[in-house]
Amino acid sequence: MAKGNIGVTSDNIFPVIKKFLYSDHEIFLRELISNAVDATTKLKTLSSVGEVKGDLGDTRVRVCINKEKKTLTVSDHGIGMTAEEVDKFINQIAFSGAEEFVNKYKDKTEAIIGHFGLGFYSAFMVSKKVEIFSQSYKEDAKAVHWSCEGDPEYTMEDTIKAERGTDIVLHIDDEFSQYLEDATIEGLLKKYCKFLPVEIAFGKKKEWKDGKQVELDEENIINDINPAWTRKPSELKDEDYDKFYHELYPTQMEEPLFHIHLNVDYPFNLTGILYFPKIKTNLDVHRNKIQLYCNQVYVTDEVENIVPEYLTLLHGVIDSPDIPLNVSRSYLQSDNNVKKISGYITKKVADKLAELYKADKDEFAKKWDDIKMFIQFGMLTDEKFYEKAKDFALLKNLDGKYATLEEYKDQIRENQVDKDGNMVVLYTNDPDAHYTYIERAKKKGYDVLLMDGELDVHCMSQAEQKNEKLRFVRIDSDTIENLIKKEDAAKDTYTDEQKEGLRKAFEGLLPEAEKLKYYVSCEATSADALPVFLTQNEFMRRMKEMSAHQQGMSFYGQMPDSYNLVINTAHPLIQELVNKETSEQVEEKPTPDPSLKGGEEEKPQETVIKTVYKLEGEDERLKQLIDIALLASGQLKGEALAKFVNRSVELL
Ligand code: ADP
Repeated sequence: MAKGNIGVTSDNIFPVIKKFLYSDHEIFLRELISNAVDATTKLKTLSSVGEVKGDLGDTRVRVCINKEKKTLTVSDHGIGMTAEEVDKFINQIAFSGAEEFVNKYKDKTEAIIGHFGLGFYSAFMVSKKVEIFSQSYKEDAKAVHWSCEGDPEYTMEDTIKAERGTDIVLHIDDEFSQYLEDATIEGLLKKYCKFLPVEIAFGKKKEWKDGKQVELDEENIINDINPAWTRKPSELKDEDYDKFYHELYPTQMEEPLFHIHLNVDYPFNLTGILYFPKIKTNLDVHRNKIQLYCNQVYVTDEVENIVPEYLTLLHGVIDSPDIPLNVSRSYLQSDNNVKKISGYITKKVADKLAELYKADKDEFAKKWDDIKMFIQFGMLTDEKFYEKAKDFALLKNLDGKYATLEEYKDQIRENQVDKDGNMVVLYTNDPDAHYTYIERAKKKGYDVLLMDGELDVHCMSQAEQKNEKLRFVRIDSDTIENLIKKEDAAKDTYTDEQKEGLRKAFEGLLPEAEKLKYYVSCEATSADALPVFLTQNEFMRRMKEMSAHQQGMSFYGQMPDSYNLVINTAHPLIQELVNKETSEQVEEKPTPDPSLKGGEEEKPQETVIKTVYKLEGEDERLKQLIDIALLASGQLKGEALAKFVNRSVELL
C-alpha cells in the first residue's frame, strides 16, 4: 500500500473546501456526475477513433445510496484511471486531466464537460471519507483503490474490480445525512442532471398500484440525453419546441408564443433555445427563469449579468462552456466572452423579431400585447436593441389598428401637425375616462392611440428624444384646439376684469382635497366644447408617472396632482354668466412701502380706481358646471357625485 500527501502547496486545503469554496454544498453531486459523464464520453470518443475496440456495453452512470453503510456511490463505465493517473489527476490536484485530453483530441471534444474548479474534491464538502475504485480501459491496467479521510494523507493500493470504470464512494458526514435520503438525491439529480448526455440511473422506476407505490424492474432514468437545444433546428418542428418547453417547466400550462434557437461556435461556443412566454400576471414573470447549462450540466438559473436584463424575462436554456463559472457575479459582467455572448443574444432576439414581423405583420400584431413589455424594456435599456426594434415596435390606436412609429407618422402627417410644425400624437391611457376628449378629437378627424402599458410613458419620452418635432400628448392634457394649435387662439370680447370676476367666482367653489390643486383660467375654446372642463399638464403628469418607476425622481412623485379648470368663454352658457356680472368701482389703496422705517415720511401715493366684477346668486349653477367638468374627466365620486345628482334633479 502506498501512502502519500496530496500535492498541494498549502498544508491542508480540506477546511477551505468545506467552508469557503462552495457555498452550495449540494453541487458536489453535479461535480462527481460530471466527471462520470466525462469519463464515459471520453470512452465513446476513443471508441469512435478506434482506440478502444469492441462493444462498449453498458455505459449508464448510476447513483446508489447505502443507508446502513451511510454511503453514496457514483459509478460509471467510462475510461477509468490507472494508479499513475489517480496519482497524476487526483493527488496532484493542481493538474487538470481534462486539459491534457482536450489537447490530444481537439476536434472531438465538444462533448467534454468543462471545468468547474476543484471538481472531485468537492466530495469532501459532505464526506468524512472518500474512496475511489477504478479500472482503466487500458489493457493490462490493474484496478486501483484510493482512500482519503479528509486530510492531506491518502492511501493507494491495487485491488480487483470486475468492470471497467470508476466508483466514487462517499462516506457521508453525519452533519449531511440529508444526502442519504432518496428524495434529496432525486431532487438534486433532476435539478443538475436533467439533460446530461449520458443516461443517469437512480434506483428503480416506481408506479402507483392499488394506492401503493411499487418498484418496477426497469431502472429510473433521470435525464433526457438529447434535449432539443442540442439538436439541429432543421430536425425540429414547432411541436418539439413546445414539448421541450414543458419538459423545462413542468408546471407551466401556457404554450410559449415563439422560440429562438441559438447556435454559434465562433468566436465562442453557445447553444440554446429562448422562448417568449405568454405572461398573464406580474407574478408569472420571475417564476420560470432561463436556465444556464455548461455542456448539458445545469449550472444556475441566475443569468443576470450574462444576458441583458430585459431578456431575463424570457424562458429557455443557454448552454455555453465559455461562460466562466468560478468567478464572482460582478466580475462576469466585465468578462469579454460574456459581453460577446450578451451581444449575440441581443442580436439574435432582435433579428428573430424582425423576421417574424416581416413574415406576417398581422400575426405579429396579434402577439404584440404579450411581447410588448420585453421589447419596450429592451428599447429603453439597450441602445443597440432600440436601433433594431424601432422597425417592429408597434403602436396601437383606439380602433385596434397597429403601426410602427414611422408608419404612424405617415398616417397623421397631414392632419396632426400644428402651426409650428410639431407632429402631435394624441393618446389615452383610459378610453372610458377620456371619452368626451376622445370624441372631440375624433370630430376633428384626429387619431388617438391607446397607451395603457406600464412602460408606454417612458417609451414616448424616448421617441420624442429620438424624433425631432414629435410630441406625445394625452388627450385630456389640454383642449384639443390647444393640443394641436392650427392658428392663433380665438379671442373673446371680454375685458380682463370681467374674466377675473368669472375666475374668482369659480375659484371660490372648487372642491378641496389633499394633494390636489386646481388652477382656473379662461379660454375661448369653442362653442361646441363643454362650458367648463379640466386639463392636466402633460409634462408634470408624465414626470409623476415616471417617478413611480425610476429612482431619483421622487421629487416629482411628491408634488400634488394639479389640474386646470378651463372656463370656455366661447360657450353660450358662460357668455350668459358674464352678462349677469355686476360691476362696481373700488378705490385701491396702495399698500405701505415695507422698506420704510418708522419715523421716515411716507410719500403720498395716488389711489387707483378699479372696476371689479362680481357674479352673485349663481353658486348652484357654477357648482353644477364644475361638477360636469369633474364628471367628464372621471373625477366626480362618492358624496360629491350624490350631491351632483340631487342638484341636477332640483335644477330640472
Ligand atoms: P476536472 O474534472 O475539472 O479536471 P476533477 O478534480 O473533477 O477536475 O478531476 C480531475 C481529473 O480526474 C479529471 O480530469 C479526470 O481525468 C480524472 N477523473 C475524475 N473522475 C473520474 C472518473 N469518474 N473517471 C475517470 N477519470 C476521472
